[in-house]
Amino acid sequence: MVQGMEGYQFQNWALTYSSNPELYFQPTSIEEVRQILELARQRGKKVKVVGGGHSPSDIACTEDFMIRMDKMNKVLEVDKKKRQATVEAGIFLCDLNEELARHGLAMSNLGAVAEVAAAGVIGTGTHNTGIEHGILPTQVVALTLMTAGGEILKCSDSLNEEIFQAARLHLGSLGVILDLTIQCVPAFRLHELQFPSTLTEVLDNLDFHMKKSEYFRFLWFPHTENVRVIYQDRTDKPVQSTSSWFWGYAVGYHLLEFLLWVSTFLPRMVPWINQIFFSLLSSGRDERVDCSHRIFTYECLFKQHVQDWAVPMGKTKEALLQLKAWLENNQAVVAHFPVEVRFARGDNILLSPCFQKDSCYMNIIMYRPYGKEVPRDQYWAAYEEIMQNAGGRPHWAKAHSCTRKDFQRMYPGFQKFCSIREQLDPTGMFLNSYLEKVFF
Ligand SMILES: Cc1cc2nc3c(=O)[nH]c(=O)nc-3n(C[C@H](O)[C@H](O)[C@H](O)COP(=O)(O)OP(=O)(O)OC[C@H]3O[C@@H](n4cnc5c(N)ncnc54)[C@H](O)[C@@H]3O)c2cc1C
Repeated sequence: MVQGMEGYQFQNWALTYSSNPELYFQPTSIEEVRQILELARQRGKKVKVVGGGHSPSDIACTEDFMIRMDKMNKVLEVDKKKRQATVEAGIFLCDLNEELARHGLAMSNLGAVAEVAAAGVIGTGTHNTGIEHGILPTQVVALTLMTAGGEILKCSDSLNEEIFQAARLHLGSLGVILDLTIQCVPAFRLHELQFPSTLTEVLDNLDFHMKKSEYFRFLWFPHTENVRVIYQDRTDKPVQSTSSWFWGYAVGYHLLEFLLWVSTFLPRMVPWINQIFFSLLSSGRDERVDCSHRIFTYECLFKQHVQDWAVPMGKTKEALLQLKAWLENNQAVVAHFPVEVRFARGDNILLSPCFQKDSCYMNIIMYRPYGKEVPRDQYWAAYEEIMQNAGGRPHWAKAHSCTRKDFQRMYPGFQKFCSIREQLDPTGMFLNSYLEKVFF
């Protein structure tokens, strides 16, 4: 019989949310997962599965039973002909990337971090950039789910198709994902080119940049016109890297954290910090070549609060200029750099922020230097209002103040998702306080 541990404290990566589950489980088999759900049913407990715990919200928190799938982390099958890999749900992408490389395969796109679990990443709709590329759940072609009642459902485009369209972005609300099959591509190298520009130039030439580079994104330094453009494109060139410990870590990490901490006493320093760090680190031209997953993932620095909404592609310029104007008109409010702007292709996943819309994600950030909270409420509220007015939808993993009535308006398939959830989990075993705000 599987044993649960008492006294475990869960904390998310940013140390912004925590919970004390009554029992903490690390199952090693499907049978053990089934036993945990049975125990939860007998005792009337809620269950939350956690992946890498990276979500910057309380989406993975629970006070009842917590399951971490890190011992169900194997690659089950690699179909070289179809270029598909079937993996247990708890595998971390950093391990999967290495394993795929051994088979000459890779994921076609990845988010910024790889210490996250396959089922966790799709659970919140993790995305990167590239207008020809969907969010990460679009790479999933099949998955297996254990429902609250212990039933095992195989889902794909041809099997339980409606559940599949919901479960590819599941919010941890439909059951325990046991395994998933990922459509991979032949392993590839990326050439990254970074160069400086201005917000006006980039927004006036968005189509050009998007056509110019397969994985185009840009970083805007608020309170300035400065932009760092990042192109990433397939290449056969040999691996080449020019990273510098001094500029990358001594200045780009430690000096920045120290200055942001000082700025908590002198907020007016923030525009100056944004300008100086652009000049020091981002005003030149940099290039590197490496295998795709080493280029896709990048240093996210220290603990932080983030918001990341997707707006319809056509609203990109208007929404960003409104944010810039709002900051100019509210000079007492400061915004850390960068505002990261990325793009994703529309899809047909019921709760995808890109549902039926090619979209632009705009991620805003406020760091917590040495763990210290920095005021952000006004900035957060203004950003959210601009995103709402632009027809945006929030990233499910990150901060937002939306509730059911907002999601009903935003998502044509919201009611359908709710019906599927109620059918698979009639007693609400997989709910927590985050999900109650979404569904009730
Ligand atoms: C430093 C950093 C960088 C990031 N970069 C990006 C980025 O570039 N792009 C982006 O879109 N997001 C980004 N994120 C957000 C991150 O990708 C998401 O929060 C993602 O969901 C984290 O995966 P995880 O494995 O940690 O999931 P968790 O946070 O552990 O869980 C996420 C959800 O999945 C559920 N879940 C996990 N495993 C299972 C399972 N087996 N069965 C059922 N439910 C399950 C959980 O209950 C929860 O609802 C970043 C976050 C951080 C902290």
